[in-house]
Amino acid sequence: MTIAYISHRECLRHDTGEGHPENARRISAIEDRFLATGLLDVLRYIDAPEVTEHQLLRVHTAEHLETLDAMAPTSGYARLDPDTIISSDSMSAARRAAGAVVAAVDLVVGADMESAFCCVRPPGHHAESHRAMGFCLYNNIAVGVAHALEEHGLEKVAVVDFDVHQGNGTEEIFQNDDRVLFCSTFQHPFFPFTTPLENAANRVNVPLDATAKSAEFRAAISEQWLPVLNDFQPQMVFVSAGFDAHQDDDMSYVSLTDADFHWVSEQIAGVAAKSASGRIVSVLEGGYELDSLARCAELHVRVLMGLH
Ligand SMILES: [Zn+2]
Repeated sequence: MTIAYISHRECLRHDTGEGHPENARRISAIEDRFLATGLLDVLRYIDAPEVTEHQLLRVHTAEHLETLDAMAPTSGYARLDPDTIISSDSMSAARRAAGAVVAAVDLVVGADMESAFCCVRPPGHHAESHRAMGFCLYNNIAVGVAHALEEHGLEKVAVVDFDVHQGNGTEEIFQNDDRVLFCSTFQHPFFPFTTPLENAANRVNVPLDATAKSAEFRAAISEQWLPVLNDFQPQMVFVSAGFDAHQDDDMSYVSLTDADFHWVSEQIAGVAAKSASGRIVSVLEGGYELDSLARCAELHVRVLMGLH
């Protein structure tokens, strides 16, 4: 099946400064691999539109948007926190990154595409309604989820987040929204050093010890995510696709393999096939070791395409 690959050149222009792990080479590494393996030929490449203020205000406060615009420098860098750095092109990249997920939702709900992969930066899942953090400015996936709910009238969607860092922003934004089931695995204790909320009807947080490997990760998914996801019967599945739990990625201690990212992608596709007509909107989050990032993104997208 054809899936949409949504990105934008502006995402390469978000400059975080010398030596920053969240840099444009991440997108280039993925695109280079997709080109080399022929995958890019069978995806539908779509340029991300800019998100609108109305779409952002569904999940962010007006003060947050104003603060970001006011902080954005015309040259050089501005530091929002010790890790989160913006430059003159960062806000236009951020508008494309969030706009990509909105476009993905429109395509997938409209049945033009069964699934979409948004290859974008800056990432989003740490951005809360009122603050940027952890390399994230706008919460891209949350903007897309809110669009699916408010614009398209979906009543039940799931967000699954296998990035090694807890998706505190997504959790905060939808904590009181029973239409959104949030499932997350993450190294703990670890960045973002916030206390994950207690599990509830719309939330499955599964902390992983720093020593966790395949067995612990797969048990978390099989025993804690999948039963709740299958009971919930989401109409669409959103994926915060972070690949920084890979054993080659020194951003964390959790040690997953290529096979684990392939496997979890298959489990997610299985959930979507049961209740969501296979509809998946996947959004790049973390992943900083370029070779494993590109390999695992390819495996993930192949699963979305039904290629195994
Ligand atoms: Zn991460």
